Amino acid sequence: MQRRKFLKNSTIGTAGLISTPLMASCQDQKKAKSAATGASEPIRPLAICTWDFHNASAEAWAVLKDGGSSLDAVERGVRVEEADVDNQTVGIGGRPDRDGKVTLDACIMDKDGNCGAVLCMQNIAHPISVARKVMEETPHVMLAGKGAEQFAYEKGFGKVDLLTEKSKQEWIEWKKTSQYEPIINIENHDTIGMLAIDRNGDISGACTTSGMGYKMAGRVGDSPIIGAGLFVDNEVGGATATGVGEEVVRTVGSFLIVELMRQGKSPQEACEEGVKRIIAKNKEKQDFQIGFIAVNKKGETGGYCIHPGFTFRTYTEQGHVNNLSDSYIKP
Ligand code: ASP
Repeated sequence: MQRRKFLKNSTIGTAGLISTPLMASCQDQKKAKSAATGASEPIRPLAICTWDFHNASAEAWAVLKDGGSSLDAVERGVRVEEADVDNQTVGIGGRPDRDGKVTLDACIMDKDGNCGAVLCMQNIAHPISVARKVMEETPHVMLAGKGAEQFAYEKGFGKVDLLTEKSKQEWIEWKKTSQYEPIINIENHDTIGMLAIDRNGDISGACTTSGMGYKMAGRVGDSPIIGAGLFVDNEVGGATATGVGEEVVRTVGSFLIVELMRQGKSPQEACEEGVKRIIAKNKEKQDFQIGFIAVNKKGETGGYCIHPGFTFRTYTEQGHVNNLSDSYIKP
């Protein structure tokens, strides 16, 4: 819903950044300095996230601007959406599976390639923080289902009923037809994937979702799968995804995009190639949405999707911008 509200109320830039006048002067100074030295200065700090999750990117920026780490920034940023009961695609308030159970997926990855994930976890409001604890306090990368929930309780997370009245009523209504047809750009898939670069130039990423609305019990998509929904390599950059997770898993989308950047593609070119690989595997059927975003070590960003309508937020010293992603299928 947030994204729709935004489309009505705000100005969207085309892919790339639009500076506010105040920030432009600061950036112009930087550019002048770069031109003088012949070196292009990396843009940092920086936060980028899927969709118009402006409160989340603002929270990440609050961490980054004060010199906080990219890991803290992405965790704190995506927690904003996990806590938002009106967001029906992430955290509490998320749409349930077809049996009426809200199951959450999340993963996090740091500058050293450490990662943690929770899959299909119920009753815990902040899966991203549990994923971070998996990364930092266990010898494992992924915990699933009851094991993840048990681990969360052991780490002090409280038990929370994640099914809000609104999501429950919609699910009851859905059961009348039980048609499982994710609609492009309609809010049954709006994962938040976030990447950040801190003042040290270190990159981290986080991704969290309630998954596809009315999915089969036990279904897990791309979002908590390192390499699919999220990948970070601090030498190169990071990428994250939203949309029909099965297709992102099939192409290991985020890892692919980071590897393409390693080979010299810009974040934009790499996202475009990531989408094209998915299209190549779906020549007969393209009625689904995928959106990728990426950032490289220089702080250059990119985003690309299959169908028009995907947006992504960027926050740098130049400003806080909602970018309309270019799409494979043209408007
Ligand atoms: N990628 C998510 C999934 O497949 C859905 C989304 O982007 O909201 O679970």
